[in-house]
Amino acid sequence: MLQHKSIRAPRGREISCKGWQQEAALRMLMNNLDPDVAEAPDQLIVYGGTGKAARSWPDFERIVAALRRLENDETLLVQSGRAVGVIKTHADAPRVLISNSMLVPKWATWDEFRRLEALGLTMFGQMTAGSWIYIGSQGIVQGTYETFAACAKRHFGGSLRGKLVVSGGLGGMGGAQPLAATMNDAVFLGADVDAARIEKRMKSRYIDKMTDNLDEAIRWARDAVAQQQALSIGWVGNIVDLLAELSRREITPEVLTDQTSAHDPLHGYVPNGMAYEAALALRESDPQRYARESYRTMAEHVALMLELQRRGAITFDYGNNLRGHAREAVERGFADAETLRGSVGLAKSAAATHSAPQNSTGFDPFKIPGFVPEYIRPLFCEGSGPFRWAALSGEPRDIAVTDEAVLATFPEEAALCRWIRMAGERIAFQGLPARICWLKYGQRAKMGLIFNRLVREGRVSAPLVIGRDHLDCGSVASPNRETEGMLDGSDAIADWPILNALSNTACGATWVSVHHGGGVGIGYSIHAGQVIVCDGTPEADRRIERVLTADPGLGVMRHADAGYELAQRVAREKNVDLARGE
Ligand code: NAD
Repeated sequence: MLQHKSIRAPRGREISCKGWQQEAALRMLMNNLDPDVAEAPDQLIVYGGTGKAARSWPDFERIVAALRRLENDETLLVQSGRAVGVIKTHADAPRVLISNSMLVPKWATWDEFRRLEALGLTMFGQMTAGSWIYIGSQGIVQGTYETFAACAKRHFGGSLRGKLVVSGGLGGMGGAQPLAATMNDAVFLGADVDAARIEKRMKSRYIDKMTDNLDEAIRWARDAVAQQQALSIGWVGNIVDLLAELSRREITPEVLTDQTSAHDPLHGYVPNGMAYEAALALRESDPQRYARESYRTMAEHVALMLELQRRGAITFDYGNNLRGHAREAVERGFADAETLRGSVGLAKSAAATHSAPQNSTGFDPFKIPGFVPEYIRPLFCEGSGPFRWAALSGEPRDIAVTDEAVLATFPEEAALCRWIRMAGERIAFQGLPARICWLKYGQRAKMGLIFNRLVREGRVSAPLVIGRDHLDCGSVASPNRETEGMLDGSDAIADWPILNALSNTACGATWVSVHHGGGVGIGYSIHAGQVIVCDGTPEADRRIERVLTADPGLGVMRHADAGYELAQRVAREKNVDLARGE
């Protein structure tokens, strides 16, 4: 049996599979579980609450064995982290097809999911955990950096210098916030209940200072703001307690958001009013009470955010369904809107001046806008999204070569070039060296072909893989996040991610996945992913061009169909065929 502690993707040019496509899947699966990459590798947890790479350790070994014997005209089928079959396909077909956490809609609740998970029938795949293309916190640094930059541009004249950014959750994704904030010159103050998570960010240089003393944390933050110094601070404690204290001392941050694992009230979010260790014990001994406490805390959390928003903080939801669960807390009677107002000192005007579509209490979490409609949707209309790649050689030099190639290919994209240079200087790699940058429709296929040429010409020492987050323009239906507030009301239409996965399969991506529940939790989203290998061959050229055109093309189509003029214009200018018979 493989020792889980020793999981680390093989490096170099020697392979143990029958081709680079299978080898790539094997290395990226193992890379997801590398202790330098995964949040809790001993439990196969990669990030995002309980987002896993395989269902169990025997299942991990079964996938590894299947990949090693997989022929170049076969496809491995993976059902929620378990290898369930190999089918004869053809050389251009994906080598792996993955479906994670899918449930029939009527049964799509956390309770039912957990019942099935306890029976060993499923696992939570999050987005890039169960689809084997997580690259550590860097994956989200750039998106977070862009979001903070867009916020700075919209509200603060382009810079966050001397501004205080407050947030909760410094885990796999949330850990990107401190670095993204200081890259925007801000002062960042973040809370995480788990000291080990903050220590991990200190080690990777994503965070500058940590303390478990709240007075000290606030003093550091105020001093840094006064001196206009970019500084990130991690405080060990519950975000709700931090917000309550800021509110009490009448300190209003300029920017307020949250990335606790609020998508999962049991195995993610941590309630307040008890020590962290006591919360972990309660999670084991009385899961139902724990979940109720979690919901109650989320309602308080949102109430405090609404209050700070009322006092002037630019507040936005950061894709963890905190708002949805806070609303559920009130609807299910775990929190009372009146008590909430009293307990957090929420001013009457804050809670009562807006419409409350789901309940009559006046407590409306959705008064906090989501980050996608606020900052990201215009990018989606251009087919822009999180293009990422990893060097299967394990050589950081290979990523330096690809960085140079990006800079040489898009010199006119100032923000992109700034990011690539900054990432080269400030991002510590976790596991296999990797890079991310947002590229648009057209740019992705162009870059993919250039990467394949770098492999062919031996300018990088082994093949590269290109993948992306499922948080992309055409690959996700998630009404509280990526598809919140769509122009035509199509927020919950989930045909698009399915069409995306089918298209990527038809075009010959190396592995394709469909998932349920990523980002926002069971019942709230359906999404798809693809990864494609650049092995330097002409066949790979053809697959890359097809996949990296169709994949972002779906994003342009989805937004054009919803009526976004920008997407319609991009479709016209870039010849994206909208099947309109013109
Ligand atoms: P994670 O599980 O790795 O980390 C979550 C962290 O939150 C943990 O360190 C945990 O200790 C901490 N935490 C939980 N409750 C807390 C509380 N009340 N106070 C303080 N700390 C608390 O999760 P992650 O990968 O960092 O993702 C965070 C959330 O963001 C998830 O809900 C995820 O689905 C979502 N997400 C957002 C994006 C995006 O682009 N915005 C992308 C992916 C995931």
